[in-house]
Amino acid sequence: MILVLTPNAKKDEINKLIENIEKRAKNIVIQRIKGENTEMIGLAGDTSGLDRDAFRRMDIVDSVVKVSEPYKLASLRFHPEPTVIAVGGRKIGDGSLSIIAGPCSVESEEQILSIARDVASCGASFLRGGAFKPRSSPYAFQGMGLDGLELLMIARNKTGLPIVTELLSLEYLDEFIRDVDIIQIGARNMQNFPLLKEVGRAKKPVLLKRGLSSTIEELLMATEYLMSGGATDIMLCERGIRTFETATRNTMDLSAVPVLKTKTHLPVIVDPSHGTGYWHLVEPMALAGVACGADGLIIEVHNAPQYALCDGQQSITPEVFHGLVQKLERVHEAVRK
Ligand code: PEP
Ligand code: MN
Repeated sequence: MILVLTPNAKKDEINKLIENIEKRAKNIVIQRIKGENTEMIGLAGDTSGLDRDAFRRMDIVDSVVKVSEPYKLASLRFHPEPTVIAVGGRKIGDGSLSIIAGPCSVESEEQILSIARDVASCGASFLRGGAFKPRSSPYAFQGMGLDGLELLMIARNKTGLPIVTELLSLEYLDEFIRDVDIIQIGARNMQNFPLLKEVGRAKKPVLLKRGLSSTIEELLMATEYLMSGGATDIMLCERGIRTFETATRNTMDLSAVPVLKTKTHLPVIVDPSHGTGYWHLVEPMALAGVACGADGLIIEVHNAPQYALCDGQQSITPEVFHGLVQKLERVHEAVRK
């Protein structure tokens, strides 16, 4: 971090500022840089504990220049090897293509078993399904709750697919730690910091979705909340962001995939279902996600989308999913290093 001082900054004020920084941050190297008209203070080391805005507020500070990222644990700079997540006998981030598939929400034993069997036979590596649903309307189906979790466990037993499901609040954290393979943190909870802190302490694999209006840096700072609690196995999910465009439910920010790849060692997953909101757009955007370097996909598949209790319009049928997996494998083969 570099503090650019105002031209009229007085010597004793500068010394006072330096003393103050020394007191607050012990392992930081402080360097005074004197230009012809402008003086600067360079701060090298872990500056994450220093408040940039507090410096900006000071009369003798003209501006604050950030040199390195505020996220350290998620940063590729401090961890140049890609993180490979091993869960339920599968690997994510090892160069293979991980496909997470299943309905938006668990609706019945028959429904989840039928879809789980279908996606398993098509080559999915994980089963998704919401037991607790974050719905925009309080009158919409809210999910089956713990009964839905039980059904996911039955489906896992019958198919061998590890389960990915969303934790909405801390109320059921113990059940999720015990029963779930990958804990999903939804877009609406990406900045629920108390939730992130507790989930991080659980050290379980986490699928963290990008918030509806969050920047990539905010996604990485949310990751930092999980990682500073001790979690290491985190995958980041691009699921579309809010823009002025109304032709799609969200705008799929596929550039986030290669951008994340330059910034973090964690695997990146693409969600073309929430990213577009329409079933016929899932295939092209899933293929594009793989083409631009995603480690995996999370796709909503329903055996009767027209009767789905949630997100039927963006769910593909098992038949479409089957054809898509064949194409995904070909694209993955073409772009893998
Ligand atoms: C979901 O995966 O069903 C979901 C609600 O996703 P998001 O949090 O991305 O909206
Ligand atoms: Mn959904």
